[in-house]
Amino acid sequence: MVVRLRGCAADERARISDQRVSATSICALPTPIPVEFASSLQQSDPVIHIANLTRRFGAKTALNSVSVSMPRGAVYGLVGANGAGKTTLIKHVMGLLKAEGGSVRVFGLDPVADPVGVLSRIGYLSEENDLPGWMTVSELIRYSRAFYPQWDDAYAAELRNTFALDSAAKIKNLSKGQKARAGLLVALAYRPELLVLDEPSSGLDPIVRRDILGAVIRTIADEGRTVLFSSHLLDEVEEVADHVTMISHGTIVLSAPLGDIKAAHRGLSLDEIFVSTARA
Ligand code: ATP
Repeated sequence: MVVRLRGCAADERARISDQRVSATSICALPTPIPVEFASSLQQSDPVIHIANLTRRFGAKTALNSVSVSMPRGAVYGLVGANGAGKTTLIKHVMGLLKAEGGSVRVFGLDPVADPVGVLSRIGYLSEENDLPGWMTVSELIRYSRAFYPQWDDAYAAELRNTFALDSAAKIKNLSKGQKARAGLLVALAYRPELLVLDEPSSGLDPIVRRDILGAVIRTIADEGRTVLFSSHLLDEVEEVADHVTMISHGTIVLSAPLGDIKAAHRGLSLDEIFVSTARA
């Protein structure tokens, strides 16, 4: 989990590593805390606004004039087959890629031009685990909290307990699922307005996935915060997302409230809807 660095240029990797620490964080699991957004954003303004975003990698068009708007306080599920463009879209939201065509605004700001203004309000997690392996869990927590003025010690301790993470364990010796939990802890112990999860279920066992991740995502949205997460697990998306955006070959083929999608495709699972929409 945590920041996906695979496929990034060296300078991008360094930038992400720095930014993750000053960018990550969030919510409250068992004990929701009142939200105080240090933001000039109006309640009705979209947290993410993407207009005609196009991105090519050589001859490959990864995103083709993608437009999507995400108001605050909801959970947005981003679904699509391998290579559909989900991570590329998320990287634009994080300012890790510059829009070649079109525009990306997060909190009304350009994440490339104003990375501090944007990233200090975003918690970002990815399936790729790039936590410092030489640190212990408690060192990771101490290290991370130094970057976050709003770090919540009590909540971090609670999450460490919930995730059954041994304080003395070295990160490099943790299992994939344990590393994922450690990454999630670092992201959650701070309270960003927007949580971005790139395939967060990767490496998590079904219990963590369903009970913890699901609860975290729901709590965040219930607090008026916003979650954008990509996933291959459509049943999981169906469980927690308020709104689903489907990408196929770099194009948005469907983007609507989950309830509307289900109503329009009576009797079909999201899986079936996705397959039929992607093939249409
Ligand atoms: P997955 O579910 O497998 O992670 P995805 O939906 O996240 O896939 P992306 O990683 O966004 O898809 O990739 C979209 C397309 O862009 C793919 O064809 C991919 O090979 C290509 N692509 C992404 N990043 C790069 C890059 N840095 N260089 C070249 N091609 C890239």
